[in-house]
Amino acid sequence: KWGLVCNEIRSEIGDNNYTTWIKPLAFKDLQDGVVSFNVPTSFVGDWVQRNFGDQIKQHFMRSGEQVDRLEFAVAPKSAVAPSAKAEPANTKTAPTAAAPAVRQPDLGAPLDARFTFDSFVVGKPNELAHAAARRVGEGGPVTFNPLFLYGGVGLGKTHLMHAIAHELRTKSPHLRVVYLSAEQFMYRFIQALRERDTMGFKELFRSVDVLMVDDVQFIAGKDSTQEEFFHTFNALVDQNKQIIISADRAPGEIKDLEDRIKSRLQCGLVVDLHPTDYELRLGILQQKVDHYRNQYPGLMIHDGVLEFLAHRISTNVRVLEGALTRLFAFASLVGKEITLDLTQDCLSDVLRASDRKVTVEEIQRRVGEHFSIRLSDLIGPKRNRTIARPRQIAMYLAKQLTSRSLPEIGRRFGGRDHTTVMHAVKRIDELRAKDSQIAEDLELLRRMLEA
Ligand code: ADP
Ligand code: MG
Repeated sequence: KWGLVCNEIRSEIGDNNYTTWIKPLAFKDLQDGVVSFNVPTSFVGDWVQRNFGDQIKQHFMRSGEQVDRLEFAVAPKSAVAPSAKAEPANTKTAPTAAAPAVRQPDLGAPLDARFTFDSFVVGKPNELAHAAARRVGEGGPVTFNPLFLYGGVGLGKTHLMHAIAHELRTKSPHLRVVYLSAEQFMYRFIQALRERDTMGFKELFRSVDVLMVDDVQFIAGKDSTQEEFFHTFNALVDQNKQIIISADRAPGEIKDLEDRIKSRLQCGLVVDLHPTDYELRLGILQQKVDHYRNQYPGLMIHDGVLEFLAHRISTNVRVLEGALTRLFAFASLVGKEITLDLTQDCLSDVLRASDRKVTVEEIQRRVGEHFSIRLSDLIGPKRNRTIARPRQIAMYLAKQLTSRSLPEIGRRFGGRDHTTVMHAVKRIDELRAKDSQIAEDLELLRRMLEA
């Protein structure tokens, strides 16, 4: 059974993870719902428990074994059999060594084993964020604190944070790396309040070496949690401990977040993940397909299918992945090759949803209405600010929400040059991070256009 489980897990977590974490496990036995392994170090045991525990249990269940618990015992070198099957005859000699190593209270949330740097596809839209994450993952001296990652839904913020955590835990197992969502942070804080143990809470959080808080926008408007977060943050920065934060928008744009917190969040490195472009989407799809090839050997995918998907599904990566998963599951179920036709059939609803394409004309009309300027002015030659700024906003939205190229957009704005459009996009991008009015306008317009 263990061999079977191994194969399943390997295809799920990839060869790298498999070789590092699962292969070193020496299966001992399965009794009364407890699976025991010998492991080379308690760290490996801990790590596997934390990151792959549920997956291992699930696969045992699927193979018909009831498993409640995994146990890892650190075995003297010779007892760890090189081959998982060879079971040492004297298993009785070290039964109580199975007690797990002394563990600190579990502060953070579990990490997704699939979210590693290996599985993260780098492209123009995310290369800066990726480089910054890599740097932090190296665990050298703290150069920017905090690292603040922001971007829309499904663009890889959580993936990058987990990747940093994996990397740090592997390279520097002595460091206390804690990852959790802002929501979980709040939950723990409230729990501490209820149990009248805020001192314990403070001590706990201040003893970590690296703190990652995901989706920090969640604590906006939650006053006492904000307050506590601020103190934790300062205490850690004072001790020169690395902090990594993510949010769905830039610090300055988060409403109901205290100014002092905003400015603290901005003092490190702020990088954003841009919406994906075609090349990145194609890259991600290709990587996923390589992964599925293990899971569904023998399944044929025709040329052009991935290109088609990368073109047509331009929303977030999660949707893209979901589409591919469904496609493979469907094709293997009906035993057919993945052709373009099959793809269109199988994913018709997803494709239709992402079909509601915004046009440049619509954008111009909406922007004109929003700022009360005439269309003729918006695309005309006037250069005073009351008109030029909305024009830049319209160009920016055209670039973001349609698949038109820069020259095409320029043409639709009264025959302007593509460098003008490029400049507008850059300018608005800069303003968006600094000027909350513009950020708000953009958000509103985007919502109206995508509705
Ligand atoms: P966010 O936290 O920004 O909402 P996630 O990190 O949860 O987004 O990413 C959503 C999904 O898309 C995850 O399954 C993630 O692995 C995948 N994903 C996003 N960006 C990439 C990328 N560049 N390479 C590979 N997978 C990606
Ligand atoms: Mg996330």
